[in-house]
Amino acid sequence: MNAGLSDSRPSENEPIDLHRKHLGRGRSQLAALFGGLVEDSASGARVTTTDGQEFLNCGGYGVFFTGAGHPRVVEAVQRQAERQALSTRLFLDPAVGLAAQALTSVAPAGLDRVHFSGSGAEATETAVKLARAHGRRRLISMENGYHGKTVGALSLTARSFYQDPFRPLLPDVTHVPFGEVAALAEALRTGEGEACVVVEPVQSEAGVIMPPPGYLAEVAALCREHRALLVVDEVMTGLGRLGAWWGSELAGVRPDMLLVGKALSGGVMPVSAVLATPEMFEPFDTDPFLHTSTYSGAPIAMAAVRATVEVIRDEELVDRAAVTGARLLDALRAIAAERAPRLVREVRGAGLLIGVELDNAAMAGELLLEMVDRHVVVNHSLNAHPVVRLTPPATLTPAEEAELLTAFDDSLTAMAKNFS
Ligand code: PMP
Repeated sequence: MNAGLSDSRPSENEPIDLHRKHLGRGRSQLAALFGGLVEDSASGARVTTTDGQEFLNCGGYGVFFTGAGHPRVVEAVQRQAERQALSTRLFLDPAVGLAAQALTSVAPAGLDRVHFSGSGAEATETAVKLARAHGRRRLISMENGYHGKTVGALSLTARSFYQDPFRPLLPDVTHVPFGEVAALAEALRTGEGEACVVVEPVQSEAGVIMPPPGYLAEVAALCREHRALLVVDEVMTGLGRLGAWWGSELAGVRPDMLLVGKALSGGVMPVSAVLATPEMFEPFDTDPFLHTSTYSGAPIAMAAVRATVEVIRDEELVDRAAVTGARLLDALRAIAAERAPRLVREVRGAGLLIGVELDNAAMAGELLLEMVDRHVVVNHSLNAHPVVRLTPPATLTPAEEAELLTAFDDSLTAMAKNFS
């Protein structure tokens, strides 16, 4: 029998022991690599550990676009939690309608229908099901692209390391090189009207890969030509991360479906969505039980969505992301060129999605650790180990920006010595 919480020995309640015991060795080893630091609280661009250390948070894999726990989002969620956190799902629920209204008001024109879910992967699943309901059974995604790890989404997340242990995945999936229009054209040549293309505007987990100019527009044109559906996965890039509301908008493209997540959380609530044209959404219109989930559109999550969209709009975070991002990119490039030209291959990005590509994965690991030593949290890249990603909040102040640059400068200076 399990010991009750009150009589278990204190050491058994240590986060690292609990991780090892219940969440797996790998999780605890990863935590140990970063000094076994334990998160205690987070606010804005700051995360604080239980030993009282404060870190600048430029990590979180993109969820902290509005900073952690934005006060307006927290307040909206608290109010909703007190009144009605979850719904019967039989009566009308005002929160989900208002959230959908807020989200579609900033979405590319024509994407008026919404299906809410919890994770990015679930949004991908929803899009795959809608595509199939429209007879598009062939899926095409891009090599090294990332769309989540549930079985359907994993079929599109084109990296054999994640896929191989779980085969067979969905049938009829083709992966083509990102940025290569000719390869997509070839894949679309057969099976007119049977395919659905899923693509990120900028490949994020692949290591912030920027496509050639005009790529997404050409993808959209090819889809039109071959009557393929176009799903743009903006789970990472959407809602301002690239310094525009959407990567699709930057490319002048109106997809059939658009996936959103991460920033939609307001740094508070795990939530994602698929935006779709009414035509695409039609199968779900007809039968509301065709694609359901107990927690889809939960009032508590919807309060966060509405408040988050309002915060991004009212605080002009999209423009701030563009301005801060451009300045940061220049400064980071200058530092890399001056301090460690032989270690850093490239600094690239758009808005506040910035990738620093190092010579190899070991160096990227070292940069992560050096930055943590200097109290700045950044991300690694799931599909590109030599690339460290910076995803700072758009609320970053000039002082925090300077802090980030100093940490980057000092980290690379130290690494240049170690690796020389
Ligand atoms: N799509 C993209 C573009 C992503 O970056 C991610 C997460 N990194 C996902 C989908 C999957 O989201 P989640 O981890 O919430 O399932």
